[in-house]
Amino acid sequence: MNFKGHITGGIVTGAALTGSAVLFSEPLGVPAPPLVLAQIFSITILFSLFPDLDISSIPQRWFFRVIFVILLGLSYHEYYEEATLLALVAITPLLDHHRSWTHNIFSVLIFPVAMAGIYEYLLMKKQFFYDWSTDQLMLHLQNHIWLVAACIVGWYTHLFLDSLPKFKQSGHH
Ligand SMILES: [Zn+2]
Repeated sequence: MNFKGHITGGIVTGAALTGSAVLFSEPLGVPAPPLVLAQIFSITILFSLFPDLDISSIPQRWFFRVIFVILLGLSYHEYYEEATLLALVAITPLLDHHRSWTHNIFSVLIFPVAMAGIYEYLLMKKQFFYDWSTDQLMLHLQNHIWLVAACIVGWYTHLFLDSLPKFKQSGHH
């Protein structure tokens, strides 16, 4: 499927997930203040486009322009852990050929956990008084469950749209 189809899919599922967060954050006991709602929406869209960043395109160029500006901002404000994490995430689609690991259904689940693990590790290195542990990692994932869900939902939206036979034939990715 092409870029336009993927961004439409991302906006639709992003809106649906943001709506679910408004409805279910209280019963689930995981708060979703306005900032988190904005993050849920944008992360879902971002990850619905993410798998195709492994191929040179105009959206890819814009993605890296945006990432560049965000990295400058994070470095300026000394958010070094966040900057490192974002740089790692942004570069991963380029590590292998088109439609390889980013289009694998298992990557979608392993990736957020691995990134949360790295983030925890970076924080732990700075604050010598707490150890890296799987308990910490699980707590971290739990506290950011909406954002993890946004990543997974956006990514699966991409894979689902790619798998539709109608779009498979068109030669798009
Ligand atoms: Zn794709």
